Amino acid sequence: MSDHIMQYLLADGNIRLFAADSRQTADEARATHALSPTATAAVGRAMTIAGMMACDIKNTGSITLNIRGDGPLGALCVVARPGVEVKAYAQYPQADVPPKYSGKLDVGALVGKGRLSVIRDLDMKEPWVGQVDLHSGEIAEDMTYYFAISEQQPSLVALGVLLDRDTTVRAAGGILAQLMPGCPEQWVAALEQAGAGLTDISRQLQSSASITALVERHFGHMGLVRIGEHPLAYRCDCTQERIERALISLGKEELDEMITQDGAAEVSCHFCNKTYRFTRRQLSGLRDEAAGKEG
Ligand SMILES: [Zn+2]
Repeated sequence: MSDHIMQYLLADGNIRLFAADSRQTADEARATHALSPTATAAVGRAMTIAGMMACDIKNTGSITLNIRGDGPLGALCVVARPGVEVKAYAQYPQADVPPKYSGKLDVGALVGKGRLSVIRDLDMKEPWVGQVDLHSGEIAEDMTYYFAISEQQPSLVALGVLLDRDTTVRAAGGILAQLMPGCPEQWVAALEQAGAGLTDISRQLQSSASITALVERHFGHMGLVRIGEHPLAYRCDCTQERIERALISLGKEELDEMITQDGAAEVSCHFCNKTYRFTRRQLSGLRDEAAGKEG
């Protein structure tokens, strides 16, 4: 079955819940960037939560997660757009760390500690930016902390990626449940209890017939109402024009240097590795545009 995100209301509308099956999306990221096993888990988890967050934004809006830890993975960037389309980029995609004692991939050690920022571009004049310290690098815990501190939104976040022996993705997905304002205490307690059953979500994703079955097992007693379903896929939205704009933003001086040193330019998209070629003549045109902007 292709990847998708289910959207629910539960607890008489006091809790909203997103549940993602992101196996193919995570595996596409692995193949695109030749991600190491632990990097596949880190990127897969980050894409899954970004995808769920993008379910309720519209048109040309987007959600960007920038995870800047001090671990071997370096910077990790994920962008999710309505649809839901996600793309990811990791600075050192092949970096890896030994698994934990239980054989669990040590995402926390690969990502490290640092900063987590979320950019919510909701098609308005200024995007909304929230930032918190990255405490664990495990991503689900850090996002829970982010929602609580930066958005004042108590949330349950569970994310999992399970790899096969050949390091392809066997299962990936996640749950995001958020309390609506004024949620009665008994539902808060029920959600906490349900959340406690999701600590080994990677294994449960593999053993469940579907993400829907997993949601029903843990939240079925809380008055679950399905309100939507969104497809999810790894897709880059880069275009020649977008790359041109990026080159123009480098400025006249930098473009002059490219023209005199190399004559032409080859620019690869960070998110999908597609290569765009620019001749000397095209670069000169972009240089003139940059000069016009600066002048
Ligand atoms: Zn691209």
